[in-house]
Amino acid sequence: MSQVELINISKSYHKQKDVLKGINLSIEEGEFFVLVGPSGSGKSTLLRMIAGLEEISGGILKINGNTVNHLPPKDRNLSMVFQNYALYPHLTVEQNILFGLKARKIDKQEQQKRLKEAAEMLGLTELLNRKPRELSGGQRQRVALGRSVVSHAPLCLMDEPLSNLDAKLRANMRVQIRRLQKRLGLTMIYVTHDQVEAMTMGDRIMVLNGGEIQQVGKPITLYNEPENLFVASFIGSPK
Ligand code: ADP
Ligand code: MG
Repeated sequence: MSQVELINISKSYHKQKDVLKGINLSIEEGEFFVLVGPSGSGKSTLLRMIAGLEEISGGILKINGNTVNHLPPKDRNLSMVFQNYALYPHLTVEQNILFGLKARKIDKQEQQKRLKEAAEMLGLTELLNRKPRELSGGQRQRVALGRSVVSHAPLCLMDEPLSNLDAKLRANMRVQIRRLQKRLGLTMIYVTHDQVEAMTMGDRIMVLNGGEIQQVGKPITLYNEPENLFVASFIGSPK
């Protein structure tokens, strides 16, 4: 069964019509799925609709076979990592990581167990008492990942999580995120405008332009058999 299914999904904002047009898509459990496209193509809008942070204008969104169009974000059993990390400046690393679990009233012992596990996995053990301002960009990014890890949600959404990091760190974090996804068996929907990131990370890639799907497929297929000129030039294949 697909973990996430979009059936003829569309989106119009008050002042901006047809931001997304008839999106049909099915994402399998355990898949690393990349949404790639130029700025303004509708990637964040699509991700935010899946998260429940943005109203769906038309179509049906299913998670685990259930229609969730009107389900609040907290009931969707997913985690989300944002571009700007969305950390609370006045809270410590530990408090930031555990924030969602506290809100869900998960007991203290279980919180500490998950915290320890995530901190070890992400190399944050020594940083738990620091505040975000005392961290580097890469460390902040790992705190944001930690928050997602402790949620134990099977579905993870990431919106350009590496775009504020320098090139070297970005390359390193790509590997870390893939490793994390594999180890936890997560279904990942990963948004980026970076073709290299898409090609190196995705099991499958969806290329979006102007609110319309250009092509969905494995990286190698998009590279060797682009369905149109946009995909060919965006992915950088020789055709
Ligand atoms: P991307 O993430 O691919 O850069 P977005 O989903 O952010 O694209 O935006 C897609 C289009 O929708 C853009 O034209 C953008 O201006 C418009 N848009 C995004 N958010 C809003 C909003 N809250 N209100 C009106 N228009 C919006
Ligand atoms: Mg965006």
